[in-house]
Amino acid sequence: MLDEMVRDQCGVFGVFGNRRAAELTYLGLYALQHRGHESAGIVTSDNGRFRLHKGMGQVSEVFADHQNLAKLSGRIAIGHDRYSTTGASSLLNIQPFIITNRRSNLAIVHNGNLTNSVHLKTALDSKGSIFQTTSDTEIILHLVATSKKRSRLERICDALRRIRGAYSLLFLTEDSIIAARDPQGFRPLALGKLRKTYLVASETCAFDIVGARYIRDIEPGEVLEISDRGLHSKKLDCHGPHAFCIFEYIYFARPDSRIFGENADKVRRRLGRLLAREHPVEADVVIGIPDSANTATLGFAEESGIKFEIGLIRNHYVGRTFIDPQQSIRDLDVKLKFNPVKGVLKGRRVVVVDDSIVRGTTARKLVKMIREAGAKEIHFRVSCPPIISPCFFGVDMPTRKELIGSSRTVKQIEEYLGVDSLRYLSLEGMLAMPSLPKTTFCHGCFSGKYPIKVPRINGRNRSGGH
Ligand code: SF4
Repeated sequence: MLDEMVRDQCGVFGVFGNRRAAELTYLGLYALQHRGHESAGIVTSDNGRFRLHKGMGQVSEVFADHQNLAKLSGRIAIGHDRYSTTGASSLLNIQPFIITNRRSNLAIVHNGNLTNSVHLKTALDSKGSIFQTTSDTEIILHLVATSKKRSRLERICDALRRIRGAYSLLFLTEDSIIAARDPQGFRPLALGKLRKTYLVASETCAFDIVGARYIRDIEPGEVLEISDRGLHSKKLDCHGPHAFCIFEYIYFARPDSRIFGENADKVRRRLGRLLAREHPVEADVVIGIPDSANTATLGFAEESGIKFEIGLIRNHYVGRTFIDPQQSIRDLDVKLKFNPVKGVLKGRRVVVVDDSIVRGTTARKLVKMIREAGAKEIHFRVSCPPIISPCFFGVDMPTRKELIGSSRTVKQIEEYLGVDSLRYLSLEGMLAMPSLPKTTFCHGCFSGKYPIKVPRINGRNRSGGH
């Protein structure tokens, strides 16, 4: 996945029962930075008083002034990393969101995307709800606030029963954390423990950084309250198939995370191995697009017996550049990020493995760069099928028209990229690689068949099944 990337919208992290709750949350968000790096925030409850700090930028930038972290006192905290579009309006959309309702505070962080948000927002609007953000997450708070149920937990469950789509959520109340995952389980959410402290995170790599151990996943359709009374689990009585996002294994999750019951690294390596079996090629060297394709590339090299080498160096310190576009160097965006290792590529038949192709524009520039470094042949291998359709469940993707896999055949993409051959992993093969049955996964962006009803595309309601 190159910098034309699709983006997962968020990472969430929560801590219950630790006087260093904000500090642990900061570290957890740091480990989850890959899930969203344009804004971050933490809210704590200090004996019922909420303390909040949030802002634009990566976690380390938002909390660059340590005073901002130090003032977040309290034993309970939730936090959020978010990918968002830039612009003034997005400041309002930075999570956590807080409301005060029935004289008590409630905060929320969300990873996912609701599919019935337009309908719900219209209904709430007509009843007088006033929205402060353009985020669908705020709708959930309004539904909780307007629920007629008596207890706080019942009001939250009542709201969750009305929403559809993808949500891995954390609520902060004055004395508890409530974690919830949608009945399909699109996005991961895991429970961990550090001595007597409970933690909840989008991915288990966030437990490792604070020395906590993984306990279990929050189940699809589960609402788990964590308080001084212990753990209290409820099941939402909504149904529908499980639909874990297969893209988490392909690209989003860190390889050192355990998600959907399995290490992402293991699945990613199997994807690479199968890719080598499905599409063998005679070559001298195999290189991966760093960093996200590294693991699949290792799998490809192991299976094919072709030597794995580092053929591209990625610059991890790319920030904004201030080059006048008029004077800019051709393909500067790619050159800033990658540099070819000429000694590896020159005169060689090269297999390039990537985990996915979205628009194809950056892949094309990289192929040109590898060619200019002297590669004799370039065989591009992709460890997933062509992306042909957008995601409605929390992944920010280009429109169908912009997805190269939707508008061109593999042969046409091969020509566009300028490679000697291009091959993708098959849909069947991809779905067979995790240990769970293939019917457990969402593959909507690869097949156009979505596990639940989604908003209209081109005037038609889309839904489908496995
Ligand atoms: S449509 Fe694609 S990215 Fe979205 S949840 Fe399904 S598999 Fe994941």
